[in-house]
Amino acid sequence: MRNIETPALRFEINARDSEARAGVLTTRRGQIETPVFMPVGTAGTVKGIRFEELESPDLDARIILSNTYHLWLRPGIDVIKAAGGLHRFIGWDHALLTDSGGFQVWSLGALRRITEDGTEFRSHVDGSLRFLSPEISMEVQAALGSDIVMAFDECAPGKAGHEETERSMNLTSRWAKRSKIAFEGLQAEGADTGRVEAESLSGAQALFGIVQGAAHLDLRRISLEQTVDIGFDGYAIGGLSVGEEKSVMFEVIEEIAPRMPQEAPRYLMGVGTPEDLVEAVARGVDMFDCVLPTRNGRTGQAFTSRGKLNIKNARWTNDSRPLDESCACSVCRRHSRAYLRHLCMSGEMLASILLTHHNLAFFLDTMRGVRQAIRSGDFPKFRREFTGRLDANGE
Ligand SMILES: [Zn+2]
Repeated sequence: MRNIETPALRFEINARDSEARAGVLTTRRGQIETPVFMPVGTAGTVKGIRFEELESPDLDARIILSNTYHLWLRPGIDVIKAAGGLHRFIGWDHALLTDSGGFQVWSLGALRRITEDGTEFRSHVDGSLRFLSPEISMEVQAALGSDIVMAFDECAPGKAGHEETERSMNLTSRWAKRSKIAFEGLQAEGADTGRVEAESLSGAQALFGIVQGAAHLDLRRISLEQTVDIGFDGYAIGGLSVGEEKSVMFEVIEEIAPRMPQEAPRYLMGVGTPEDLVEAVARGVDMFDCVLPTRNGRTGQAFTSRGKLNIKNARWTNDSRPLDESCACSVCRRHSRAYLRHLCMSGEMLASILLTHHNLAFFLDTMRGVRQAIRSGDFPKFRREFTGRLDANGE
């Protein structure tokens, strides 16, 4: 049973620099320093990288993300329950956050039908007709046993008009209430497969609410109020990086993040490039996830301290330098751009593996630098220098 005296997680902020915060998020599966980047493990795997590497000092990832939608469709909840939950199924003992499936279903576009009850859609796996609702999403996330559960939301398109966005936002709010009720029922029933004892924590899952409202600042503020009224362990900004201009995205973050509860973690969903992360931290965000480091790693693109670098470019044919001369990851310590380019041009799977490793190391290391800078009061300088270096196209 969930006890209010012992929370599902603890969040302590130990340094601030204007809106930027550095802190420690304590989950039932260990401590996570914030601001934090969470690698995305959609189908129970962070694509192209072994869990040992995620845990290695190179990366030291403390929390990864997984997808309710994907795991629910395949392998299915019965398989994961039989294995004793997602942590055991995939062999990962650190913290896991699962999204609710709302965004994946939304991104199916014309293949879905939304009603007050939930969303009906065709499975991308076998074409079968499926139905996802706040209650089912909470049930699936309890069966997965993730440490942080996301409320089931509806996402309006980035350029949606005021009326459409308002309708969608109010639906998200009603679904958030239903998510919380269902979530609490499942915690009380002991449906959470990931329950573990942890000092001064309840052992229960934590539940985050999601602020929607597309690009409309008035609706974003209302959505924030509605979400805080329901009450969650943490708060997320959803529905960004879905086709709106970048300036609009930062306008929303700047307006909403500082107004979010000070004492709770703030999570910006699905964003973004390394510079987006640094800019969002400056506006008060604590948690991030994005597929960019892994997805781009599979297509030959490296993120470096001197900007993005396409390893397929002929100019690297004989280049003996590492991907990033300021990166200390095991790939940069060992391999040249020339070799990585050769692997990529030859279609070798090692190309994806090595680029993914470096990209994740770069994202995680950037956040390490951000935390240090906030703690030492140097964040404005860090931000200026970090952004200034990025225009060099890898040179
Ligand atoms: Zn590297």
